[in-house]
Amino acid sequence: MLHTVPAAGMQSALSKSGRETTVKTLVWTKPRDFEMQETQKPVPGDGEVLLQVRYAGICGSDLSGYLGENSLRKPPLVMGHEFTGIVVEMGNSVDRVLNIGDLVVVNPLLSCGQCRMCKSGNQQNCLHRSIVGIHHPGAFAQYVKVPASACYRVSDELAGSLVEPLACGVRAAEQANIQIGDSTVVFGAGIIGLFSLKAAALMGAGNLILVDTNEQRLQFGKMFGATHTINPKSQDVVQAVQDLTDGQCSRVIDAVGLPLTRRQGIDMVEPGGRVVWIGLHEDDTMVPGNTIVRKEIEVVGSFSYSDLDFERALSLIERKTVTTDSSWLDVRPLSEGKNSFEEQIFGAAPFPKIALRPE
Ligand SMILES: [Zn+2]
Ligand SMILES: [Zn+2]
Repeated sequence: MLHTVPAAGMQSALSKSGRETTVKTLVWTKPRDFEMQETQKPVPGDGEVLLQVRYAGICGSDLSGYLGENSLRKPPLVMGHEFTGIVVEMGNSVDRVLNIGDLVVVNPLLSCGQCRMCKSGNQQNCLHRSIVGIHHPGAFAQYVKVPASACYRVSDELAGSLVEPLACGVRAAEQANIQIGDSTVVFGAGIIGLFSLKAAALMGAGNLILVDTNEQRLQFGKMFGATHTINPKSQDVVQAVQDLTDGQCSRVIDAVGLPLTRRQGIDMVEPGGRVVWIGLHEDDTMVPGNTIVRKEIEVVGSFSYSDLDFERALSLIERKTVTTDSSWLDVRPLSEGKNSFEEQIFGAAPFPKIALRPE
């Protein structure tokens, strides 16, 4: 279905075996620049499969990467780590049960499986971890090669591209250790904040309060389970949370990561409460140490997801507990990648998530 008889003009792009050799790839060449390039079609090695990309989401971390503000990403790079694709070729010694034509979602966080972190189920902290789209060419391309062991069969090609960001939300809610009825605040109505909110709702949170300065995005809160929304532009956030929870805000998930939101989270949480930091906006932060001591607050980080979190997110997508909606998920051709990045960073950014589709 993929490799049909080529048109005469495409002859130059074919090897003697008839395999297309060049493909379209969106390459990040330098800060604030993308180029659509003709690149060599990847050849899957041992244990790898070649995927024809179906959908690849733009992540917030890709945006800071694009600006050159993310220390992990170095140009030239093919980004894209939230994706689905169809298995079109297989390398040698593929041991996972996969077939040509399977639709899969990829867990882009590759771990060694051998270190103490991996053995304890914390693949996100693997000492040898690497990520597709950061350390290996990603999915903003017609084709991407990945380890077969990272592929999971999925039934919906668009919803499947949400498994990765949803897994981040699942982990954040787990790190928050939410118990039934816990009043929970989520900072940030980007997709990670919204998915954290959804996971917190599924874990039984009571009052579920979403905070964001973008009024348009705040409107999505209800769809993801928010009981209340707060816009700091018009309200004192800490006071508003105290009022809504009778001073009993048990859990905070900060999917923004500014010194101000980190401070507010610590100020609003009740004694013995837990604050989860998942947002990565700014590194250096002053925290009120004495408040943490006197209120016995736990502040914990949340980074990506374990393999189990990924599988839990996949289960939520497969059971349609989380479904796509064009109000917050916009699909565009890969050729509109650069415009979409610019819109998310400098424009109105009305969509919490944009997925790119190679033509
Ligand atoms: Zn991501
Ligand atoms: Zn490891």
